[in-house]
Order: sequence, then structure tokens, then C-alpha cells
Amino acid sequence: MMRATRIFLSVTLASTMATVATADPFKPSAKDQVQLGQKVAAQIRKEEKVLPDNDARVKFIRQVGAKLLAADAGDTKAPWQFTFDVIESKEVNAFALPGGPVFFYTGLLDKMETEDQVAAVMGHELVHVRKEHWANQYAKAQRESLVLNIGLILLKANNTIANISNLGREVFNDLRYSRNAETEADDIGMQTMIKAGFNPNGMADTFRILQSVSGGKGWEFLSSHPDDAKRVKRVEENIKKQGKTFPPQKKLNLPKTKYKEDPALDSIAEGFLSAITLRGMSGQR
Ligand SMILES: [Zn+2]
Repeated sequence: MMRATRIFLSVTLASTMATVATADPFKPSAKDQVQLGQKVAAQIRKEEKVLPDNDARVKFIRQVGAKLLAADAGDTKAPWQFTFDVIESKEVNAFALPGGPVFFYTGLLDKMETEDQVAAVMGHELVHVRKEHWANQYAKAQRESLVLNIGLILLKANNTIANISNLGREVFNDLRYSRNAETEADDIGMQTMIKAGFNPNGMADTFRILQSVSGGKGWEFLSSHPDDAKRVKRVEENIKKQGKTFPPQKKLNLPKTKYKEDPALDSIAEGFLSAITLRGMSGQR
């Protein structure tokens, strides 16, 4: 399924890119990001066990999402189309697709102890959408690819046309948010959660919980970067800098998931997240 999704993403993107005309010719427009995200989200809803609207966990993350969006109204208006869904899977992760669809796995939700921790994950994910991290990273990778391929043209003229025509897909498969993007998602995500009335200690907690339960693997940003300890520290320092006391964290009161079957390890999100992993064209990451 992972492979199918990747191909789907690539094909979708290629067709989308053909009509793009923005200031940065490599960057998908906001409209294209929304369209791409919606298409992929529809695919996920078909292929994954997405919990129904009346499930307590779905209702809960939608409430948290609504609070966060209301707190940052100026920044979250059109064109983004946010949706919030829960996928039943042991995968410890959450992710946002370009343009707004956010998916939270029960595997991560089950590890969360407070509402504030959930808000931290979601606040972080919303920033990836609003700041167009995927589109920026895609554009950057495209530009780098072009430079690389001009080099190839000079070196071996024969093969170049084929190389360039394959690039969209390769680059898409290999795109990862930059460290700066992750830091921005942490920082703005924290501001958003504070504005929405949550306790930002939930963000630091989330890092700690994930580091302890899964050795640092889990939720996209923990698995993306080697210096997680530094990020936790940064979050903690940012909390101190606020110089405020925050409302106590609210204990999360949701049913734990009972899994009927073994989870597919290569879930669709893993596919998407590795699809946005930038190892670069020449091993730089
Ligand atoms: Zn992130």
C-alpha cells in the first residue's frame, strides 16, 4: 500500500505541477497544495481504518483542532482546508498533508496523557501546513535537482533528458522537512497552543514520552532529526521565557484502543513521511 500511495502522490503531483504558475516556478501554489492534500487524504480514508465521526477520539481531536485554529484565526483562513481524522493503527505518529488534512494515529493518541500534549502535536502539525513547509521543501529540492542536472548535461549529454523527466518523482520521494521548518513548527506551534489556552509543558512532555517509549522514534519530528535532546531543551527554554504560569494540564480521558490485528508497519503515513524525506540528490540531507 505504501508503494501504491507513493506512486499516487507522485502522479498527482506531476499533473498538478503542470499548471502551476507562481512567483517561484518550482513551488506548488496554495491551491495546488490544497488539491494535492485533499486527494491524498481521500486515498488515506479509503485505505486506512479511519475512525468514524462519532468516535470519542475523533470528536476530541476535532475539538482541539478547532481551538487551535480559532486561536490563530488570522493565519489559518483560506486557502487552507483543515480536517482532522484519527487512524486506528499502532503507529506512533501524526502528520499533516499539504493544504490542511491532519491525521493522528491511535498509536500516538494512546500514549498521550493530557489534552495539552495532543494540542502540542497538532499545533506543530498545523504550522507545517500554514508555513507551506512541504511546498517550500519541494521547490528547494527541485531547484537543487535542476542545478545537479545541468551538471549532468555537461557531463553526459545522452542521458539527461531521461534524468530530468524522472526528477519530479525522485525528489518527491526524497523530501524531508528541514530542521528550520521543524523548529518553526515547534515555536509557532507552542505560541498557538498557549493562545488557545493550553499548557505548553505539554509539548516538552510529548517529546519526553516519545523518547522514553520508543527510543526517540515516533511522531514525525522525533524520527527526523538526530538532536532531539536539543529540541526538548529549546522547548523548555521557550516555556521559561514566557514568564507566565499556565493552566494545569487537563488529563486526557479517552478510551484506549483495542487492536484486533497486527498493524501494518509500512503504513501510509510512513510512506508519506518517507516520501517527504530529503536525503538530497547527493547524500546531503
Ligand atoms: Zn514536524
